[in-house]
Amino acid sequence: MMIRVTEINSASGHREIMTGISFIEDKLQQGQILLLDGATGTELEKRGVPMNSKAWSAEAIITHPEIIQAVHEDYIRAGVDIITVNSFSTARHMLLPAGLTGQFRHLNLEAVKLAFHAREMAASTPVAIAGSIAPTTFCSDPTKCYPPLSEAYSWYVEQAELLAVSGVDILLIEMIEDIEQGTLAVKAACSTGLPVWLGFSCRRGDAGEMMLWERGQTLAEGVDAIAGIGGTAAFIMHTEVADTVEAFSILKSRWQGTLGVYAHSGHFVMPNWKFNDVISPAAYAREAGGWIRSGARIIGGCCGIGPAHISELKRQYGGKMMEEKSQE
Ligand SMILES: [Zn+2]
Repeated sequence: MMIRVTEINSASGHREIMTGISFIEDKLQQGQILLLDGATGTELEKRGVPMNSKAWSAEAIITHPEIIQAVHEDYIRAGVDIITVNSFSTARHMLLPAGLTGQFRHLNLEAVKLAFHAREMAASTPVAIAGSIAPTTFCSDPTKCYPPLSEAYSWYVEQAELLAVSGVDILLIEMIEDIEQGTLAVKAACSTGLPVWLGFSCRRGDAGEMMLWERGQTLAEGVDAIAGIGGTAAFIMHTEVADTVEAFSILKSRWQGTLGVYAHSGHFVMPNWKFNDVISPAAYAREAGGWIRSGARIIGGCCGIGPAHISELKRQYGGKMMEEKSQE
């Protein structure tokens, strides 16, 4: 398979790319459960790749490309329908604190190539490639490291267009944690014409209410503010397994499109993920059964969730019909 790297602003390229996920639409229409991959960044760390304290998994694209490709291949062999490009921390505002903005274009293009190479090496059934865009930062005070509001939209567009012309099938906005930044990132992704999936990250506020990750707004406010912009699927992601049921029910009551979940397990001690309390594959799959019965159609894993978890999801739910699992 040829890697499609064309020039920016190629509208015809977008149309060609969009045909790449017709199998996803078919499976959803048939009521099948779709599988997204597990974590990329924390899986790299687990395999010994040092994480950059400011740009996290971005530097690994230069230092350990073969391990990134191996992670993608492991998820493909586990049976996923969609893999996610390691572009979570390659937006301009993520590279800036690490002094890596000069490599912005190179890092994003290489990250996409690694996903394509992995698909070429490992896929025996259709696999879509989602480009990740994250309106978050690794600074202790994110407000200091978000893109400045005057630049934010154009910086998100810059990454969205680069990923789009590189041939990704979907743009996945990961860690919507703040309405202002999330809105700009989603608008930017939608401007490419590619299908856009929205990932809302949640944790509890002081009174136990379900908040967007930065805790400036509730999840309900976040979904209401952003759902109207665009996007075809929305997820609860990078959220504690224990909080997913409540968060998912809030999302479900406010989102008309396809629904999904990919939770995390463990916790950050920046820039590293701590795996000691990570949920077992069997227990994670049990939780996922609950999400599916509540209406999730696309499931996968975020930080701490690896190929063994995804294999178990595949064994229990891959290719299964929604109705079939609902009757249990
Ligand atoms: Zn995560």
